[in-house]
Amino acid sequence: MDNKPFIEAYQEINSRFIKLLSSMSALRALSGFEVKYRNENDIIADSLGVLLDYHELDYVAIFIYEEDELKQVASKSWDSDIKQSHSKYDNLCDQHRALLAEVKASGEVQQANQIPGAEFSGSASAIPIHASDVLIGVFLACHPDDEFFSISNERNLVIYCNFLGQMIMNNRLLHSMDKMVNERTQQLQLALDEASELKRRYEELSIIDELTQLHNRRFFFPETRAALAQAMRYKKDFSLLMMDVDYFKLVNDRYGHSVGDDVLRDIAAAIKTEAREVDILARCGGEEFILALPETDEQGAEVMAERIRNKIKSLRWQVDENEISVSITIGITRLENHSNQDYVGLLDELILQADQALYHGKANGRDQFNAFSNITCPLDIGE
Ligand code: GH3
Ligand code: MG
Ligand code: MG
Repeated sequence: MDNKPFIEAYQEINSRFIKLLSSMSALRALSGFEVKYRNENDIIADSLGVLLDYHELDYVAIFIYEEDELKQVASKSWDSDIKQSHSKYDNLCDQHRALLAEVKASGEVQQANQIPGAEFSGSASAIPIHASDVLIGVFLACHPDDEFFSISNERNLVIYCNFLGQMIMNNRLLHSMDKMVNERTQQLQLALDEASELKRRYEELSIIDELTQLHNRRFFFPETRAALAQAMRYKKDFSLLMMDVDYFKLVNDRYGHSVGDDVLRDIAAAIKTEAREVDILARCGGEEFILALPETDEQGAEVMAERIRNKIKSLRWQVDENEISVSITIGITRLENHSNQDYVGLLDELILQADQALYHGKANGRDQFNAFSNITCPLDIGE
């Protein structure tokens, strides 16, 4: 019996089996690639290396579409290192170029045999690289033997290309997600910065008097209550000044509201220059100002009141031919009984006392300061 056909069939099956094993080994190596932190061109170059390790090929190259133009990304011949390039086609003959064009036109595998004269003569197979049904590139394999690319050979390379396409797609998705996350994070940070700036501005606006840029009552009350609590706890002096511009209505009536505004602004600035860092100053409303003086006894408060009174009196405003000057009346009070623990209503009480001293001054000729402790008839607040 002639065993030759059986031996040939056995050899053919054996060779196919070995090729299949090689192909699966290439895929296994490819599946171990880390795509997350690598760029696409490096992944492609490495994948070519894997392929040549497991397949008997003379030359392989991968081309990727960039804005509809095919660019060679990596190539390798069996006797050289992997070449990473970014040119159109490195060293292809017309027939190889024609193969690439046919893959683009058909989206299918293309083969050419008996390629003469070219650097890689013999046979060539060009296989589309798809990612989610989109043609993203072409894989070119050359072998010096004619008719080298059998159906099973080609099928293995197609599986390799599908695998590679999926890896490229995953890598692109990861990078675009990274980019998107970074962009969103930046946008979010911008929005947060804007929001905190707005919050800061709003908080500032809500505690700052627009005309004079002094603090308003909303700021004054909690700050002063805290300072009072400290004064009581540590048995420190504490005084309070209420100030009201004299006959201010006349300024408005004679020179207009806008001149009145200028006068108020300058008075506020003048009082502010007299106040210390620890003092709490606010515009109380209209032409009234309030000044809390921590660690200041009545005598110190009187010195401060006199300085403010003189400063205001020295201010001048020129309106046409007229020179304007104003005076201010000030009421003073001090924290007296440190043992009084009810400091919640204490500030209101002190304000009432300073007000009474202020109206005492109004009733007695204005342009003066008076301490609540010295006035004889504290409840006589009429003129
Ligand atoms: P007195 O000496 O008794 O305090 O007299 P006065 O005229 O200062 O007091 P009065 O309470 O009669 O008038 C206060 C005036 O202050 C009336 C009001 O129009 C004016 N005024 C209050 N707020 C402002 C402001 O923001 N700008 C201007 N221009 N005027 C203001
Ligand atoms: Mg007033
Ligand atoms: Mg007044």
